[in-house]
Amino acid sequence: MDALGHDDHVVVVGAGLAGWRLAEGLRRHGFAGRVSVVGAEPHLPYERPPLSKQVLAGRWDLERVALAGGDRAGELGIDLRLGARAVALDAAAGEVTLEDGTRLVATRVALAVGVEARAFSTPSSGALPTLRSRDDAEGLRDRVAGLEPGETVVVVGGGFLGAEVATSLGARGLVPVVLEAATRPLVGPLGAEVAGWLAGLAADASIELRTGVVVRDVVAGSGTWRVELDDGLLEGREVVAAVGSRLDLGWLEDSGLALDDGIVVDAALRAAPRVAALGDAARVLEVEGERGARREHWQVAADHAEALARAWAGAEPSALAATPYFWSDQYGKKIQLLGRPLPDDEVVRVVGSTTSGRWLALYARAGVVTGAVALSQPRALMLAKPLVDVGARLDDALADAPWER
Ligand SMILES: Cc1cc2nc3c(=O)[nH]c(=O)nc-3n(C[C@H](O)[C@H](O)[C@H](O)COP(=O)(O)OP(=O)(O)OC[C@H]3O[C@@H](n4cnc5c(N)ncnc54)[C@H](O)[C@@H]3O)c2cc1C
Repeated sequence: MDALGHDDHVVVVGAGLAGWRLAEGLRRHGFAGRVSVVGAEPHLPYERPPLSKQVLAGRWDLERVALAGGDRAGELGIDLRLGARAVALDAAAGEVTLEDGTRLVATRVALAVGVEARAFSTPSSGALPTLRSRDDAEGLRDRVAGLEPGETVVVVGGGFLGAEVATSLGARGLVPVVLEAATRPLVGPLGAEVAGWLAGLAADASIELRTGVVVRDVVAGSGTWRVELDDGLLEGREVVAAVGSRLDLGWLEDSGLALDDGIVVDAALRAAPRVAALGDAARVLEVEGERGARREHWQVAADHAEALARAWAGAEPSALAATPYFWSDQYGKKIQLLGRPLPDDEVVRVVGSTTSGRWLALYARAGVVTGAVALSQPRALMLAKPLVDVGARLDDALADAPWER
């Protein structure tokens, strides 16, 4: 896609991290044409990672999560339309239709629509509360704020989000009980071996994690929830589900774009001549191999936004194929993941021991480093980053590891 000029109009759908950063980046890199951002939520753009951490733990007010406070959009000459959901796209014409019938015609459209929380429903409860949005966080925070220390909150799902929610509830003096259907959390993203090393984190933090558990039903009582499991009963004052995410792309079905577990884009984030997609909703081809990959990582969304802003504003390109990075703060520890490891990659621990609570391991495939994972070892992870960036040979990496110096 060529760089844009004065007379062009960019319409960004989605006012989350990727959408807002793109709009801001277009201005920062000198684009002087029209920029419109439409966001379905009524709130100014905000950060999601603190919702399950500082906000739920009661350490931050919700105001602190803002990405664009005050009239930042007005200052940047960005037409920010909140509470405005896009309901149709004509990709060839660059036309976006909003829920209220407004039609926006653009030279370029950027789809930064993220994902939603996957619903978890039981026969009696219907869909349980989840945590994806600022409104979800506010609701959950307010409900748990009314509980007494020592009261139980049931968290369905022991993945990254469920673990963070449990940690934050624990920090409030509540007693979270995490229910995980798999025999071990995090096997999918980290592989069985690394997941095994992390299996004891909850217990170390005195948080109850039950694995291999099937939730049959959740029944609301007076002030309590009765959670019926395949092997018993559990009572909690609140229940929250953290069972993954789902895409909400039905409105794009007639748009002419390729949809395949995400909006399919090439390495330049192009979905069609006038349309790009970025962030959690984008499945990026070419840099990631045959079917490409969609990553729900804060840093990836931010990198996409920066790369696209530069390309469209005609600035020097940034490295779009930057190594993906993800972190999670859970059970008093920080887990960090770099690269594109696959669950069955070889794993070699190079710093610390699994019992030390601080370690770093490299992933490798066919003798080539594909990623690194660290537990509360941020410095070692940064030292390992160049090895992951260039796809170093594992033998060379081990012989010349920076942590041995
Ligand atoms: C609680 C929580 C904690 C997290 N913690 C971490 C973490 O520790 N580390 C990490 O790496 N990542 C974390 N993430 C993931 C990270 O927040 C996401 O990767 C990032 O927000 C992706 O940005 P995005 O702009 O693609 O999507 P989003 O931030 O989801 O923004 C998309 C926006 O588009 C809007 N939208 C959707 N459809 C439409 C439409 N049709 N019309 C208009 N607007 C629309 C949505 O309402 C939403 O506001 C966390 C996510 C959550 C929910």
